[in-house]
Amino acid sequence: MRTGRDYKFWFCTGSQDLYGDECLRKVEEHSRIIVEELNKSGALPFEVVWKPTLITNELIRKTFNEANADEDCAGVITWMHTFSPAKSWILGLKEYRKPLCHLHTQFNQEIPYDTIDMDFMNENQSAHGGREYGHIVTRMGIERKVIAGHWADAKVQGRLASWMRTAVGIMESSHIRVCRVADNMRNVAVTEGDKVEAQIKFGWEIDAYPVNEIAEYVQDVKKGDIDVLVEEYYNRYEILLEGRDPEEFKRHVAVQAGIEIGFEKFLEEKNYQAIVTHFGDLGSLQQLPGLAIQRLMEKGYGFGGEGDWKTAAMVRLMKIMAAGVKDAKGTSFMEDYTYNLVPGKEGILQSHMLEVCPSVAEGKIGIKVCPLSMGDREDPARLVFTSKAGPGIAASLVDLGDRFRLIINEVECKKVEKPMPKLPVGTAFWTPQPDLATGAEAWILAGGAHHTAFSYDLTAEQMGDWAASMGIEAVYIDKDTTIRSFKNELRWNEIAYRK
Ligand code: MN
Repeated sequence: MRTGRDYKFWFCTGSQDLYGDECLRKVEEHSRIIVEELNKSGALPFEVVWKPTLITNELIRKTFNEANADEDCAGVITWMHTFSPAKSWILGLKEYRKPLCHLHTQFNQEIPYDTIDMDFMNENQSAHGGREYGHIVTRMGIERKVIAGHWADAKVQGRLASWMRTAVGIMESSHIRVCRVADNMRNVAVTEGDKVEAQIKFGWEIDAYPVNEIAEYVQDVKKGDIDVLVEEYYNRYEILLEGRDPEEFKRHVAVQAGIEIGFEKFLEEKNYQAIVTHFGDLGSLQQLPGLAIQRLMEKGYGFGGEGDWKTAAMVRLMKIMAAGVKDAKGTSFMEDYTYNLVPGKEGILQSHMLEVCPSVAEGKIGIKVCPLSMGDREDPARLVFTSKAGPGIAASLVDLGDRFRLIINEVECKKVEKPMPKLPVGTAFWTPQPDLATGAEAWILAGGAHHTAFSYDLTAEQMGDWAASMGIEAVYIDKDTTIRSFKNELRWNEIAYRK
């Protein structure tokens, strides 16, 4: 499914006419070269578009308003080549509504020791101009990304690439629509939240439907279409019968194929990019959507279990931000299930009743049909696998009553020591940073949920930048976390984020 537009980023260079036309010609030449080289580098996920040098209030204001109006523009990258008096930027910045990056760089990497004179100094003064510009953005209280370093440096380009993904997440956040086919699981607190406030803060639209309305779409799926999809499943996945009758097994799998096709049609027709189900409210559905939801997540849909619309929207958001990452390792809905507390081998086994996205899988993916041990439906078919090793992030968005908080934990995913032949679900296993005990204590103190949106392909910095753009609190649990300072941070944030 579509995860976003073919976004572009505008490159706007700040200067002034104090140093004459010759200087402005150089400014233009330099900024054109930077844009050209950035696009040629292959490091950026989106195209950078050169814009004429900004030197007057009028042009700055006009350019920012054109950026607002251009649907393909996901943000403006600003660079102060020379000194650009920042009062000129006030009106433009005031009217600008999209992600903003201040690339604090300069054309030359090294000081030209043998030839440097005052003309060169006046012409190449980013160290000077970047501070004047930065001052006004800070004074105006505008959220922006500042990236400092030489533009040709791989690390700088990597940070710019990473910010571009965040910017697209910010742009696309307001297009996320979550379809709830069941309400929140009875008595559960952390999956609840203020949907009106979520629309104000994040732009998310969260709508409910009676489950039987989507179930009708499932009933209407043609048998021929189901047969084709079942065949695809059988070609792609390993069939793990485990003593079940092959025909009976296939009938159970076919139910999930019908759900996948029916749900996708419903979501597409009604323009939803994320879905929430609940095992206790299935209406006329024959099985809890398992394999079907796993496949929809793999296609880019967000998902949350038991009515958890916040996590469903977060999974969708993170899939948008990670779309097109080279050698992507996957993004999924997850749930903290059970610990391994053996010293030196500590970790949390992650899974859900059924709904883990196969994009995180490593190795073979199998299909099993097993009882659910909850609810009152027939045994659902599901994809089973274990996940990749390596670093990732787990994010939990919680509603604290007066505000949202995003909790971001860096985690290290590992292979489990031994196979788990009797466990019929997709799993991941990770050790939270800085260690299991500190990570779990900090998570609990912050009020983090048991459900998370997890990705191998995004960083804590990206999620924190997204939260900052949305104007909400974000806390990080990583290698530097200590409980004493974390508790202070939470206490201070109570005041900083008070309405
Ligand atoms: Mn759950």
